[in-house]
Amino acid sequence: MNNLISRAKELLESKTVNVVIGYEAGPTGLARPAFITDSAKADKLIYDERCVQNLAVYLTKAEVKNFGKMAIVARLPVMRSIMMLISEQQVIGDNLIILGISEDNSLLDIASISVMQGYIDKCDLGNPSKDREILAELNKMTPEEKFSWWQNQFSKCIKCYACRQACPMCYCIRCTVEVNQPQWIPVQANAHGNTEWHILRAMHLAGRCISCGECGRACPVGIPCHLLTMQLADQVWNYFHVHAGTSDKMNSVLSTYEPNDKESFII
Ligand code: SF4
Ligand code: SF4
Ligand code: SF4
Repeated sequence: MNNLISRAKELLESKTVNVVIGYEAGPTGLARPAFITDSAKADKLIYDERCVQNLAVYLTKAEVKNFGKMAIVARLPVMRSIMMLISEQQVIGDNLIILGISEDNSLLDIASISVMQGYIDKCDLGNPSKDREILAELNKMTPEEKFSWWQNQFSKCIKCYACRQACPMCYCIRCTVEVNQPQWIPVQANAHGNTEWHILRAMHLAGRCISCGECGRACPVGIPCHLLTMQLADQVWNYFHVHAGTSDKMNSVLSTYEPNDKESFII
């Protein structure tokens, strides 16, 4: 932790960056995002098991981009998100300094995007083990049972879109759900509209989800919507042998074709 604070101070004092994005303790003791612009306030930075939010979601916000050069505290999901955002030309890698955090919460020496790629390559890139277990149980169900299970989950959805807001890959200036000419998705939170919303969102994240689980954590009514995108991440791995967020030059899996691609999933 002291290493993180002293590195943040050094970066701000030398004006190498204009802001350090990390975590601080909120009034209730929970971790919340911190945007440190003054080296004297870098002592507020924390890093421990409370710091789970995927901070990469802020990198595409205009208010944050206006800072220019920035440093960001990044464990593996944040690093993978950054790779996706650079690949999708939403973030400029040269504007970012990565304050990488290892599995055991120590500061990593990530001097460049290619060093970060080397680190990511050595990590387990599958879905988190607790989610793998739930997905394995769901995959034992018949299609009818699975549909019914998800319908039950979707029935709780209040269409608050916190899941979308929490996801670093949902950076669209105007989300499809907010377009009303034509109206793609019903505004009301009803069975039909909720199902459409979740299918749409999952398909937009297919091949792009880096399995951080943030959308599910953000849901105020406890819908495990991250399992939908994680299931698709598994499918993308099975069919195309690609994990999202492993390079800053990734092509979009679902819009990149090769003549020898498998076609067994086309019915
Ligand atoms: S787990 Fe959810 S929040 Fe994280 S990248 Fe996937 S869809 Fe986005
Ligand atoms: S759900 Fe789709 S349209 Fe909406 S912000 Fe996410 S990727 Fe964009
Ligand atoms: S956060 Fe939960 S309740 Fe809100 S739109 Fe997403 S799934 Fe529905």
